[in-house]
Amino acid sequence: MKPLNLPRKIPDFSALSFDIEDFFQVAAFENQCPVESWPRYECRVEANVEKLLELLEGHSTQATFFTLGWIAERYPQLVKRIVDSGHELASHGYNHQRINLLNQQQFRDDIRSSKLLLEELSGLRIDGYRAPSFSFTEQCPWITEELLEAGYLYSSSINPVPHDLYGYANAPRTPFLWPNGLLELPVTTYELLGKRIPCAGGGYFRLYPYLVFRHLMRKAIQQLQTPAIYYLHPWELDPLQPRIKGASLKSRFRHYINLSKTEQRLRQLLRDFNWVPIRQLQPVSETLYQRAD
Ligand SMILES: [Zn+2]
Repeated sequence: MKPLNLPRKIPDFSALSFDIEDFFQVAAFENQCPVESWPRYECRVEANVEKLLELLEGHSTQATFFTLGWIAERYPQLVKRIVDSGHELASHGYNHQRINLLNQQQFRDDIRSSKLLLEELSGLRIDGYRAPSFSFTEQCPWITEELLEAGYLYSSSINPVPHDLYGYANAPRTPFLWPNGLLELPVTTYELLGKRIPCAGGGYFRLYPYLVFRHLMRKAIQQLQTPAIYYLHPWELDPLQPRIKGASLKSRFRHYINLSKTEQRLRQLLRDFNWVPIRQLQPVSETLYQRAD
């Protein structure tokens, strides 16, 4: 990994991103809801993304939508809505399988088919990729080569904290280049007494009180001298989603905690920071961050 030098001045904006998938496609429920069972579930993603788009429009804010191929294929109008609203369309892979559960060929097929599909539906080039459940692990050294060969320009697939599902606890916390030159934009963390505290969104956004989350994110921006990268899922705005039976207590806690509070907190977050899509961090990375070598 090539470290990048820190910028002289922190830009006064942060990057907003959403991973577009439905409630039954998350890694926490992968044993209860295998891919073959997905067609049996009532899809709620369309209505939830609509809610999200209206919310963003109300705040004149644009974001990056890492969209699952499985969803895009079934809801082409949704892809069109995202793009027509001026948001960045990016890839979340096709089938939301954690990378460490795939072999190299399966991964190649997954990232290429989703990119091709999103490009056909949108008429735009797809530059960005986010791994399902931040499952970018050291066990799969071929990931960056495959992404580059498939034509991706950047990845935002690392949540550099210890986690039972995430892959790279010790990865750099600021943007960096993989050895082959692929730009990686890790989601935001704060470090306190040598411990990394996740504060980029998702379950942590619902778990912490809002003011604590906002404080951590502001502190992280100062500490990292870099824009924050935040993420959320449309199902996190849907407290009435059907409950999945048979999952562990930990998985249910992670998935269902404070769902009813997300929308109000997101509204506040949109007011408290200036947001841009991740694509706008690419030139920032190129100009403000210089290669260290
Ligand atoms: Zn996901």
